[in-house]
Amino acid sequence: MLRRPPVDGQGRLAARNGYSSSIQLFLSVKNREIAKILYDMAELLELKGENRFKIIAYSKAARAIESLKEDIEDVWRQGELKAIPGVGKAIADKVREYLETGQIQSYQILVAETPPGLTELLQVQGMGPKTVALLHDKLGVTNIDQLEQAALQHRIRRLPRMGATREANILKSIDRYRRRSTRIPLYVAKPIVDQILDYLGQIPGLEHITVAGSFRRGRETVGDIDILATSSSPEAVIGAFVQMPSVEEVLGQGPTKASVIVKETVQVDLRIVDHRSYGTVIQYFTGSKEHNVKLRGLALQRGYSLSEYSLKRVATGEELYFDREEDVYARLGLPYIPPELREDRGEIEAALAGKLPRLVELQDIKGDLHVHSAWSDGLGSLEELASAAQGLGYQYLGLCDHSPSVGIAGGLSEERLQEKIAAVEKFNQGQDGFRMLAGTEVDIKADGSLDYPDRILESCDLVVASIHMAQNQTEREINGRLISAIENEHVDIIAHPTGRLIGRRDPYDVDLQAVLEAARGTGTIMEINAHPNRLDLDDHWSRVAKDMGVPVAINTDSHAPDQLRLMSYGIRVARRGWLEAGEVVNTRPLTDLLPLLDR
Ligand SMILES: [Zn+2]
Ligand SMILES: [Zn+2]
Repeated sequence: MLRRPPVDGQGRLAARNGYSSSIQLFLSVKNREIAKILYDMAELLELKGENRFKIIAYSKAARAIESLKEDIEDVWRQGELKAIPGVGKAIADKVREYLETGQIQSYQILVAETPPGLTELLQVQGMGPKTVALLHDKLGVTNIDQLEQAALQHRIRRLPRMGATREANILKSIDRYRRRSTRIPLYVAKPIVDQILDYLGQIPGLEHITVAGSFRRGRETVGDIDILATSSSPEAVIGAFVQMPSVEEVLGQGPTKASVIVKETVQVDLRIVDHRSYGTVIQYFTGSKEHNVKLRGLALQRGYSLSEYSLKRVATGEELYFDREEDVYARLGLPYIPPELREDRGEIEAALAGKLPRLVELQDIKGDLHVHSAWSDGLGSLEELASAAQGLGYQYLGLCDHSPSVGIAGGLSEERLQEKIAAVEKFNQGQDGFRMLAGTEVDIKADGSLDYPDRILESCDLVVASIHMAQNQTEREINGRLISAIENEHVDIIAHPTGRLIGRRDPYDVDLQAVLEAARGTGTIMEINAHPNRLDLDDHWSRVAKDMGVPVAINTDSHAPDQLRLMSYGIRVARRGWLEAGEVVNTRPLTDLLPLLDR
């Protein structure tokens, strides 16, 4: 459960980068906290109407710290803060203050000086500091209710740069803000979990440890983080847990259990459990609730009562203990059911019938078919990307930079694309056992046409098509665009088919069922975009694609070589969609993949 407004720094921070972001997802929690504060300071200064250069300085420094590869704490210890581009003395002092004291005084003052409603207004999509300041100055708007009133009374449309459309969009955004999820995206939870596991791993006496709940099931968002452990000295482990540096508040503490809130407003529960019950406990806390209800029903049919402690024979009262989860399922006559499937979507029935899928695994992946390079808005040369890919054991990489109409993302002109294709060809001549595929992520324009003519598309090894512009069209228009791209014989893959950004932007109006039917007709591949902001297709639609026999690719949409590692997020989605390796095209070796690409 979240204790504070959950549209947090991560969401806003990521929003600044837009869809083509080179967002650094592996940065330490400290880097992210400091970047968030600096971004917030830039916004608050802008709200106050401060000097533009000062504002720019803060957001520049925030961006630099956000994309910093090293842990900022290490950089500080080495006395190198001012070597970070954009970090001058004033900002370096603030970073040091934060690392030493856990806060920045001038930030606290800025926050205190700003009416709280105004900061909340900034969290409504489309409300930047300039707009908030304008509405505040001209209409006296200081909170969301007043903003809504002003929009409903059509007072906003009369202001400079606003108009009726903006006004209508503000109402939509308010609605979305109020419906916002109190869950955090998996990619925010993951580094927090990693840090906690690292920390607890060093406590003497800790034996086994597992993160259960929706995190373990690989859901795209996570509520509380539930950690289960066994230990020979529970009190010592609990004591260390509540004293972790990231703990902001201890909600409760007993000899074998504690609940805390960590920095990013996430509740983390740690339970030290009896070793002999570890299997049933993990099973119980992994959920889902629906899966467990059905499993308990099955247990009863078999004469057992299943709890987190044991399997009890109803007839005799005898208790059976299991320290391994596999053995719990086995005793109930079931094969092991992977956590990603435990949603009561037919997995228990399939297990009983011996028809559980053999889910795709990260090791099955032989390449990534949607990656950006320094040719457009990515970081990383062909050589750097290839070596990162080979480090993951890949045989190929689909280099798909943007097309011209995606101008802000450095889309390539026809000439530049030809140059890139030539560069890729040359690069491949020096390769053995690895192939770079010269591709493009061609934009599907508002009228449904593609951003390059057919003769250009024909010269690419790989064509990924996707929508970036005019996302507010009607369902009919959006479907028309996607289907005409699917029907183009040069298009191999439809990327991020719904355009959603988790927690930030709803999918565009699209009838995916119809789109998938069109894709089945032409054999066009649908993407599971593994970028943790997108995860699009999601688990539900991945399963539909599987059931329809539509081929699927899992691609990272990387904008930097180390983002190739985001593949694991896409694998989770695919597993939750019941996909097997054979149903994912980029598990194929290169020789089997190529025929698919030149249908
Ligand atoms: Zn894209
Ligand atoms: Zn892309």
